[in-house]
Amino acid sequence: MHIRVDDMVEVTSGKDRKSRSKVLHLDRAAGKVLVEGVNSVLKHMRRSQKNPRGGRLRKDLPISISNVLLVCPTCGQPTRTGVRFRADGSKHRFCKKCSAEIGQLSPANPRYTQSSTAKSNSAKPKSAKS
Ligand SMILES: [Zn+2]
Repeated sequence: MHIRVDDMVEVTSGKDRKSRSKVLHLDRAAGKVLVEGVNSVLKHMRRSQKNPRGGRLRKDLPISISNVLLVCPTCGQPTRTGVRFRADGSKHRFCKKCSAEIGQLSPANPRYTQSSTAKSNSAKPKSAKS
């Protein structure tokens, strides 16, 4: 999952292709993201207590996570992301275009700090130096 809530994303397909907006909600199980102002539909509402006038209501529907790309805050381009580890064992997401880091994924982990090159367990850091 390369997207998180509050990320800027660019839509890559559908009627809102090329539009950029903010992620409001993530549904990991369904693989869907709710992006502000994207894939909005007019929902016809009957008059109710909550909505006494009824009528047409604009509502955003979630879209597939495979149809959005993260917009890198550093280079401003829609990009795929990679994951790398720092020397302190913390896990970071990075832009594959300019390789700037875009937020931390997990905090420093002392397990990876001691001589990561000597050990060769299954979860070895890709690049210990930063
Ligand atoms: Zn970038």
